[in-house]
Formats: sequence, C-alpha cells, structure tokens
Amino acid sequence: MVYSCIKNTLSLLYPDHCQLCDAPATEGLCTPCREDLPYNRHPCPQCGLPLSQPLEVLCGSCQQQPPAVDRSWIPFLYAAPVDRLISQFKFSERLPQGRLLSRLLAEYLTQRIDRPDLLIPVPLHPDRLRQRGYNQALELARPLGRRFGIPLDHRSCQRTLKTRPQHALKRRQRESNIRGAFRVVRPLTVRHVALVDDVVTTGNTVNELARQLKQAGVARVDVWALARTP
Ligand SMILES: [Zn+2]
Ligand SMILES: [Zn+2]
Repeated sequence: MVYSCIKNTLSLLYPDHCQLCDAPATEGLCTPCREDLPYNRHPCPQCGLPLSQPLEVLCGSCQQQPPAVDRSWIPFLYAAPVDRLISQFKFSERLPQGRLLSRLLAEYLTQRIDRPDLLIPVPLHPDRLRQRGYNQALELARPLGRRFGIPLDHRSCQRTLKTRPQHALKRRQRESNIRGAFRVVRPLTVRHVALVDDVVTTGNTVNELARQLKQAGVARVDVWALARTP
C-alpha cells in the first residue's frame, strides 16, 4: 500500500519513468513494456471480439445476430498488465494510469478512425457515480475529445436502471439484465457517435446504448474502448 502510494507519487513527479517497471521511459512506458502489452491483434471489426487469426470477416455471433454497434476500436485484450492498470484507474482513481491508458487508446485511434460527430462516455448509474466519485469512461473520453477535436456529450444519455455486474451473469441473463438500462433524455441531431468505455465484456452494455441511440435517430454508433474480454 505504502509502496504503491510512493510509486504513484513518483510517477506523478517523474513522468519519464515507466509505470510498469520504473525503467526510464518517455510518456509513461518503456519500449519493452510497450511491446509486451496484450494487443487485440485480430478483432472482429464490428464487436471487437478477439479472433484467433485475421479473418477479415465478422465473428460468427455478429454474422448470426448483427449488433446495434457498427464498428469497434479496442486495442487491448483484458489481460495483464492492462487489466491491472484499468482497475487502478477505475477503483482507486489513479490518474497517471488514466492518462497513460487514454494516450495509448488515442495512439491506436489516430491512424484508424472515421471521425465521429460526437463522443458519448457510457454513463454510470447515479448511485454508482456517487459511490465511485467519478465516471472512468468520462475521464477517458475527455482527453480523446480534446486530442481529436470532437465534442463530448455526457448529459444526453442517462443510465436509469441499476443493473447487476454483467460478468457475474450467465450469457442469457446478460441481455435482459441490461435491457432498458439507458435513456436518451435530450434530442440528438448528430449522425455518427462513438461510445467511450474502459472495458467491453460481453458487448451487451454498449449494444443496448447503441440501440437507444439509433432509436433516437443516430445513424452510426462506434465503440472506442481500451480492452475486450474474449
Ligand atoms: Zn517498463
Ligand atoms: Zn463480432
């Protein structure tokens, strides 16, 4: 605890050290640690599911039941050390980790994205927000919006249902757990939106929000997230 506190303070004071191994580094990560990150090398273009080889077609699930999300941009697998950086950022408000993660996502997106008109961080239920003190999706989205010059909207969508954590549920329960969890509370006039979140676990959450946005008239919904579970 004390060690991690000191380490955290050090990385704030000396951002030229690697946040994973403390070696000298530019922008928070040394080259070996950066090369070792668990990249999502062959994602399904639509849902981001990691595939075993580049198929250049959609995964079986997207082919059978096309999701509401049109395109996913997810650079990492939810595996060490990215999972640890994400939980440090999410549950203990470690801002250097947040900055590093947001920068890694931005670097990945720079060469790839079709520019959306608006960024919408996946909203937390107000109770959860009160408990945690901040929405990690919003904290990730802010620097992305600044970097790409895309407006950010964290008011038009609300999470109105308090759902159980998706990972704790069986596959079939997940869809019904999240159904109706979001509401679009203000009219949206944009055509293309990117939803920002930290981790996509089942895809049900982003798909439910995408479904609501499409009902509200949005034509295309992409997902920008850090990591995907298999
Ligand atoms: Zn390192
Ligand atoms: Zn897919």
